[in-house]
Amino acid sequence: MSEEVAQATEVQEEAPAKHRTQKRRTKPIIFPNWCKGCALCVEFCPKHVLEQTESGSVIVAHPDQCIGCRWCELHCPDFAIFVTEIESEEKSV
Ligand code: SF4
Ligand code: SF4
Repeated sequence: MSEEVAQATEVQEEAPAKHRTQKRRTKPIIFPNWCKGCALCVEFCPKHVLEQTESGSVIVAHPDQCIGCRWCELHCPDFAIFVTEIESEEKSV
């Protein structure tokens, strides 16, 4: 092995390992015409993404907090909310 090749190999071995992970982002979407304002989703969302306004409407108040667990979607009695993936970010760690 030449000295140059040996040095290049050394540099490769010393370089910090870069791992890429996919960060999945999701948010809930509410169909206002179907939502009866029972607030089940508001009460049980583990990240407090949803809020009920004084008029009784349910809004997506903190979409950035959504972890995509789909509790809201699976338990809504009126199929008035679903969770969608909005983008994937590639993140180096
Ligand atoms: S659980 Fe469904 S019907 Fe009840 S407030 Fe949430 S979206 Fe509306
Ligand atoms: S998917 Fe989970 S975290 Fe996101 S709004 Fe629904 S219950 Fe909350």
